[in-house]
Amino acid sequence: MYAAKRDRTQVELWHAALAAGNTDLGLDTDLRAAIGNRELVLHYQPLVHAQTRETASVEALVRWSHPRRGLLPPGVFLPQAERSDVIHLLTAAVLDDAVRQAATWHRAGRTVPVAVNLAAPVLASDRVVTTIGALLAETGLPPRALIVEVTESAVMTRPAESADRLRSLSAMGVRVAIDDFGIGYTSLGLLTQLPVDELKLDRSFVARIHQPPDRVIVESVARMANGLGLTLVAEGVEDAHTADTLTELGFDLLQGFHFGRPEPASA
Ligand code: C2E
Ligand code: MG
Ligand code: MG
Ligand code: MG
Repeated sequence: MYAAKRDRTQVELWHAALAAGNTDLGLDTDLRAAIGNRELVLHYQPLVHAQTRETASVEALVRWSHPRRGLLPPGVFLPQAERSDVIHLLTAAVLDDAVRQAATWHRAGRTVPVAVNLAAPVLASDRVVTTIGALLAETGLPPRALIVEVTESAVMTRPAESADRLRSLSAMGVRVAIDDFGIGYTSLGLLTQLPVDELKLDRSFVARIHQPPDRVIVESVARMANGLGLTLVAEGVEDAHTADTLTELGFDLLQGFHFGRPEPASA
């Protein structure tokens, strides 16, 4: 009798979870606990100026330092987090770490702007604006030293709310980057309607830059970014030849294993 009642409760929980789009209660609970135990760690990857190859900023990339499974990349746990409320908790933890780290560098006289990725559900919620505002006020980090990276598809999930958040953040002085540019549903009008500072061309284009059709696309993106006064970034730059080609095409910033892998702040 008691067991049957427990089973039913379990099933009800599952239904609630499925209705909320959450199909893995185990990972969800583990991830929540992991955030509480500070098992999420940030690695930072440099973005360099194409002309001088000096560091211009860094991107914070989350990893899960799992006690048994080792260092887990975001691809293993982010999709699940994004289907549940955990993404808000995770993003708050990431923002907290990244902004404090950037403020520490800033106080040490070495201002290195930090970029943080915002997932669709986060971009749609107004909490993110308050969280960022409070963190900047508390740490004294100049808002220009924080960049938020959002993908086209994240923006298009809830266009009106997303545009609102980006306008609030931009008004605060925070910079906005469109991540993985070119693979989403590109409404080019988005670029003139949103307060965009940076375009990060997806690495799939960068990988094929030496093939004629892709080269033509990249050249026209470069002209467009230049004409709109946007900072143009290439992701996934893995060799010197590609870096030089992108520099010739007028890219402002380069990011990729050729210049540095994501590493802990201590490195
Ligand atoms: P992203 O924002 O486009 O980040 C760039 C990804 O490309 C990173 O993978 C980085 O390690 C990888 N990468 C950098 N240079 C190269 C290269 O030269 N070659 C190749 N093949 N890959 C390169 P990572 O760290 O596994 O992150 C994957 C994605 O997870 C990120 O893509 C971002 O969308 C998401 N992500 C990471 N951290 C966070 C976070 O704190 N919050 C949210 N919402 N998403 C995050
Ligand atoms: Mg990114
Ligand atoms: Mg990207
Ligand atoms: Mg990408």
